Amino acid sequence: MKVLVPVKRVVDYNVKVRVKSDHSGVDISNVKMSMNPFDEIAVEEATRLKEKGAVTEVIAVSCGVAQCQETLRTAMAIGADRGVLVQTDVALQPLAVAKLLRALVDKEQPQLVILGKQAIDDDANQTGQMLAALLDWPQATYASKVEIEGDQVKVTREVDGGLEILSLKLPAIVTTDLRLNEPRYVTLPNIMKAKKKTLDTFTPEDLGVDVAPRLKTLKVNEPPARSAGVVVPDVAALVDKLKNEAKVI
Ligand code: AMP
Repeated sequence: MKVLVPVKRVVDYNVKVRVKSDHSGVDISNVKMSMNPFDEIAVEEATRLKEKGAVTEVIAVSCGVAQCQETLRTAMAIGADRGVLVQTDVALQPLAVAKLLRALVDKEQPQLVILGKQAIDDDANQTGQMLAALLDWPQATYASKVEIEGDQVKVTREVDGGLEILSLKLPAIVTTDLRLNEPRYVTLPNIMKAKKKTLDTFTPEDLGVDVAPRLKTLKVNEPPARSAGVVVPDVAALVDKLKNEAKVI
């Protein structure tokens, strides 16, 4: 059984981005880029399923600029068997990515696609759901446990007040939550091995997909600056301020 794992190249989670002076977006020139953290969890999960013998091949896919090759090499160093880059300089929106992934699903015929629940740059949380809709496949989002049982995948999700367990008939779409696993440390020998793995490149045109943006960003602003806090001498002073200044108690 093949598993497809889409991995997005995003601004590293440690970087504090700045809004461009023309408010058209955030400035990502010269900032550190990394694999979206939820996608690292997805690659780790697919690799563990392969190590357990439930999966035969893990294919990592990234859509975007040529440098997404680095993201794919990281995925292959974690454990993906090969990589596919869909190369374009167009800023891709979730619907375009979902259409590209559908075309790759048609080509590769995986039984499972494991995506991150959201990309930490645009926080869209849409691609997995759109892909499930385009393919008309069942989906389980925010997975905290994934088990393959015959022709089904059992997915545990953390919901308000407990755990929800879903059983989906394969082929299916799963999106990862933070607590699904802790991705392994990428070792130097595995980075070296990853350099030798196959990486195929396509363009959106090769896949017959129109990736032109459908949404327009009107304006991007910094969040309002927070005013400085005050240090109170004791609990009584705090209670007094909460009562008489903030008027919240
Ligand atoms: P989003 O809907 O943008 O929040 O992204 C959800 C998930 O879709 C990500 O965690 C990735 O698994 C996948 N994804 C989104 N954009 C891309 C991309 N450009 N290339 C590969 N995978 C992507």
